[in-house]
Amino acid sequence: MMWFTHIAFGVLAGVVAISFFNVQQQFLFVVLTGFAAILADVDHEGSKINQFFPVTRWASHVFKHRGVFHSIFPVAGLYVAFSSIGLNEIALAVAIGYSSHLFSDSLTKMGVNLLNPISTLHMSGFIEVGGLMEYIVFGVVVGVTGLVLF
Ligand SMILES: [Zn+2]
Repeated sequence: MMWFTHIAFGVLAGVVAISFFNVQQQFLFVVLTGFAAILADVDHEGSKINQFFPVTRWASHVFKHRGVFHSIFPVAGLYVAFSSIGLNEIALAVAIGYSSHLFSDSLTKMGVNLLNPISTLHMSGFIEVGGLMEYIVFGVVVGVTGLVLF
């Protein structure tokens, strides 16, 4: 998926999450889920996250696209890292936003392997990245977010 679709999914996941979890900083939480939703693409050289932060670009030279960065392991790692220093709300937001990226990429034809590199749990869908269907999904996600909010 493209970066704006990822952010849309991340924001929707954040908006839904604040109705399930007792979140203190709700606006910040949703900003973070939206931001965390583009983190996984550090493994793609031209991604938005690597345009914002060129320092993360090394990851795209070392790791293959949709490899380990598109698995559940960075989700678990980031969650443990933030919660171990008491940043529980940030840990939750990052885990939810990052997971939303994995979910939305799993809807694409290329799919993701959620257990990369230790095993295979490949999930894929029918959406072509950058195709008409992605724009429709983007529109639906933005629309649903609006409905959840109001
Ligand atoms: Zn991705």
